[in-house]
Amino acid sequence: MKFLPLFSLLLLFACGEKSNGESVQHKPAALPVAAVEETTVTEIEVDTVFTIDYITGKFEPAEHPDFTEINPPLSDRKRYLRKDVLAAFTAMRDAAAKDGVTLKVKSATRNFANQKRIWENKWTGETKIEGGKNAAETWKDPKERALTILKWSSMPGTSRHHWGTDIDINAFENDYFAAGRGLKEYNWLTENAAGFGFCQVYTEKNADRPTGYNEEKWHWTYLPVAKQLTQIAEEKMTDDMISGFKGAEVAGEVGMVENFILGINRACL
Ligand SMILES: [Zn+2]
Repeated sequence: MKFLPLFSLLLLFACGEKSNGESVQHKPAALPVAAVEETTVTEIEVDTVFTIDYITGKFEPAEHPDFTEINPPLSDRKRYLRKDVLAAFTAMRDAAAKDGVTLKVKSATRNFANQKRIWENKWTGETKIEGGKNAAETWKDPKERALTILKWSSMPGTSRHHWGTDIDINAFENDYFAAGRGLKEYNWLTENAAGFGFCQVYTEKNADRPTGYNEEKWHWTYLPVAKQLTQIAEEKMTDDMISGFKGAEVAGEVGMVENFILGINRACL
């Protein structure tokens, strides 16, 4: 059985650098104090808490002891997050507010059932994608259809949103973060989020990140917990374990574990 001393991880990431080597502005007074106090006395029993059911989102966040509600004004509506993640996000949000930057959660935990609904609505054409196209009619080949949906949406069982560690902040368009208020918010996050344990998972696709979802300037992960979950997924998950929804039969062909679960910003690994 492995134990994860979260406190040491928190310190490690609180002193991190951005992937491009620039130093990061830190605000030591704004560290997520509640999370530190909680996790120094309660080490996480990784193998018994972070089971395959947990990794694949097969639980109800509302009934899980490590989860709590996140409500307005922190979130646009009632959602769920891990308690340690909410403490860290709250500290980050308060520090941002002092700098005149508003951070609001637009999506948090989504379990397997939530993600299955999102995925299958795109798969069947009920939800239009790529500028109003019906995926079922436009991409008859299942692999092509899956790869098109996978530009922006995870297969059920493979989403980091299952873990309660990942949040979408403020908007779902990269364009929003390219100018004006959105750019100010994004610049604040890139300079300060690492100091609170948060990392942008889906950065620009390039030689360092050749596979996986498109860039998402809004999607941030709480590394002190999520790093361990990524490692467990790498060690224990295989493509044939991804099942129970329409289109699951091509999980192996598209390389869900290698290309998507592990196709993330290397600074978040
Ligand atoms: Zn997201």
